[in-house]
Amino acid sequence: MVNAEIIAVGSELLLGQIANTNAQFLSQQLAGLGINVYFHTVVGDNAGRLEQAVKTAQTRANLIIFTGGLGPTKDDLTKETISRLLGRRLVTDEEALRAIEAFFARTNRPMTENNKKQALILEGAAVLKNEHGMAPGMALTVDGITYMLLPGPPKEMQPMFTKYGAPFLRGVFSLSGRIESRVLRFFGIGESALETALADLIDAQSNPTIAPLANDGEVTLRLTAKHQDQAEAKRLLDEAEAAILTRVGRYCYGYNDETLFTKTLERLKERGWTIAAAESLTGGLFLEQLTAVPGASAAVSGGVVCYTNGVKEHLLGVPRPLLETNGAVSEPCARLLAENVRTMCDADVGISFTGVAGPDPLEGHPPGTVYVGIAIRGRDTTVHRLALSGTRDAIRTRTAKYGCFFLLETLAAGR
Ligand code: ATP
Repeated sequence: MVNAEIIAVGSELLLGQIANTNAQFLSQQLAGLGINVYFHTVVGDNAGRLEQAVKTAQTRANLIIFTGGLGPTKDDLTKETISRLLGRRLVTDEEALRAIEAFFARTNRPMTENNKKQALILEGAAVLKNEHGMAPGMALTVDGITYMLLPGPPKEMQPMFTKYGAPFLRGVFSLSGRIESRVLRFFGIGESALETALADLIDAQSNPTIAPLANDGEVTLRLTAKHQDQAEAKRLLDEAEAAILTRVGRYCYGYNDETLFTKTLERLKERGWTIAAAESLTGGLFLEQLTAVPGASAAVSGGVVCYTNGVKEHLLGVPRPLLETNGAVSEPCARLLAENVRTMCDADVGISFTGVAGPDPLEGHPPGTVYVGIAIRGRDTTVHRLALSGTRDAIRTRTAKYGCFFLLETLAAGR
């Protein structure tokens, strides 16, 4: 069993100036390698406290990964501290030194003496090349514990770990077996409802593992399977996915990096359809996110931010009596907005958003009361009513996502 601890070194982390994204990245990578991470430690640029942290880690981990403190400045002390603790000298790595000299020559800058410090490595360590900066990383095993030292800047650390660090660990710990993972993305169902529906599957999980995560009104399930044979690992994932989808497939809209917006655009393009939007409470959020997807111009016609009743009336033709009787936050208003923006923009689909983002009620409706209208050329218009909760921001964001979700449902049903 490999038990890992990640020690991030840097006072700026303790001061709250930056978040420890290195630990997050490394934990994800190590999970993918099948390595357990039991502790994240953060320690400032202080030799005594770093030494204490290493001694503690040595009692509970057989893999200790450090990030930060490899640079040329005085407070960069990771190498020196570990050198002292392990009784290993620091020696110059000629290749790293040449790379540093070449960097200074190329950029026409004088190389100061302390920059040579960056080429020092622990004697006997394997060098992990830094292809995006100067300080090389290193890894070595002493008395059954493997130490890996990585630079602090994520743009240097991440490619170094992926290209050199992970293969080193695979070799040292004989990590054979393929890890395959797949993320299923859900919308329209809360995390607890999803977990309840899948409780027995989640409880019985071992291979693949099923890890739920909730974020921005969406829930994802990460399935991770491990097997010597890649095809078999994939088969295990397929089997688990099928079991999950028979129960909650209605809410699953995509995989991995797909979003509701990329998916919506994809479906519209498949049909060669265009879309137009009338946005009241979302104020353009829906179209902003849809047009952020590359290739949006093939399916997006345009739209209207119809925030006031005046714009709803004069630009989108919602009759004043309707606004006075039913209100702007109403089913008939959403219906007309969707239908009229569609015809006005000569699009195949018209979508509308009207409702109360909060924090104050509107027309007697509590925040979170939302109507989403969908008008499709040659078909009956549908209007969905939502009762959302959360902050103004959350309500607006979810409303735009619900627009995609309802539209995807409508398109899937061929309605
Ligand atoms: P350098 O050669 O740049 O000095 P280094 O290995 O000495 O690299 P640090 O000086 O500790 O690294 O950190 C450099 C920068 O890297 C920090 O200012 C910060 O922006 C980023 N960084 C360091 N540690 C982390 C971390 N754990 N998570 C995210 N970013 C980090």
